[in-house]
Amino acid sequence: MLEGKGNCMGIEKVAVLGAGLMGRGIAHVAALGGYQVALQDVSDDILAQALKVIEGNLKKGIELGKVTKETVEAALGRIKPVTGLKEAVENADFVIEAVPEDLQLKHQIFMDLDTFCPPHTVMATNTSAKSITEIAAVSKRPHMVVGMHFFNPAHVMKLVEIVRGLETCDEAVRLTEEVAHRMGKETVEVNEFPGFATSRINAMIGNEAFYMLMEGVASARDIDKALKLGLNHPMGPFELGDLVGWDTRLKVLEYLHATLGAKFRPCPLLIKYVKAGRLGRKVGRGVYEYPDKK
Ligand code: NAD
Repeated sequence: MLEGKGNCMGIEKVAVLGAGLMGRGIAHVAALGGYQVALQDVSDDILAQALKVIEGNLKKGIELGKVTKETVEAALGRIKPVTGLKEAVENADFVIEAVPEDLQLKHQIFMDLDTFCPPHTVMATNTSAKSITEIAAVSKRPHMVVGMHFFNPAHVMKLVEIVRGLETCDEAVRLTEEVAHRMGKETVEVNEFPGFATSRINAMIGNEAFYMLMEGVASARDIDKALKLGLNHPMGPFELGDLVGWDTRLKVLEYLHATLGAKFRPCPLLIKYVKAGRLGRKVGRGVYEYPDKK
């Protein structure tokens, strides 16, 4: 049971911590959902850059006929950039943490949230693979801590995976679902387990595709084509891995290998690509070449 405002509260104020790749998209959909959004990061420059990206993406929505100019102006007016954590969260009903994937940093933030947030605040983390239970363990209110896993780009991708840690209470899960729906997202609820529901399967497919490439089953292009046209995947596993970054993918595989066992053993060829610096689109070459990004 939540303390303070309890069940009958309406969530109106959302704080998004971290204005990077994910935080920007989350602030975008929160503001479009009608929430007052405090977007917090460590510097004014990062926040200004984030607001520019959000504005650009919202305006693309007007061109595509998805939103009106008035809706975009109102949404932008609801986002307040702040550098101080206390200022961002002291009146927040719902916090979404989207800082880098570093357990120590997330622990520090969840301890600070204990100090600054009102008693009724739900505290969500957008971690892609870390344990919600472990993040919540430093909190004096672990029942209020929940996983809210968005996908990249967060303003486009439909799914939010809601992850229940050991202590997460039903009301925190219900409110997270409500917030995600108001942001226009579909949700699935999963119990915490390494890789949740999505990262686990995705890592497995990408790794298997690399084993097939190493074994000479087919070319990367043909493996991608086979999965797209034969199995109806919107992107091939190599195209997707190039987008996500093979270094990121390798980190997830190493974690899954350590926690779930041999079936997630990273393919030696994938490791070789990472060692060679062929990390994907972000560096101009991965499995494919991206000359414009070099
Ligand atoms: P990012 O590096 O693009 O952004 C992180 C932001 O947090 C940066 O702007 C940084 O300045 C800011 N930051 C650092 N320390 C901070 C602090 N103490 N207080 C406030 N802000 C701080 O990272 P990202 O890709 O947006 O990832 C954020 C989280 O989302 C991670 O946990 C990641 O695993 C998860 N995630 C990422 C993806 C993805 O595809 N990138 C997808 C799903 C989930």
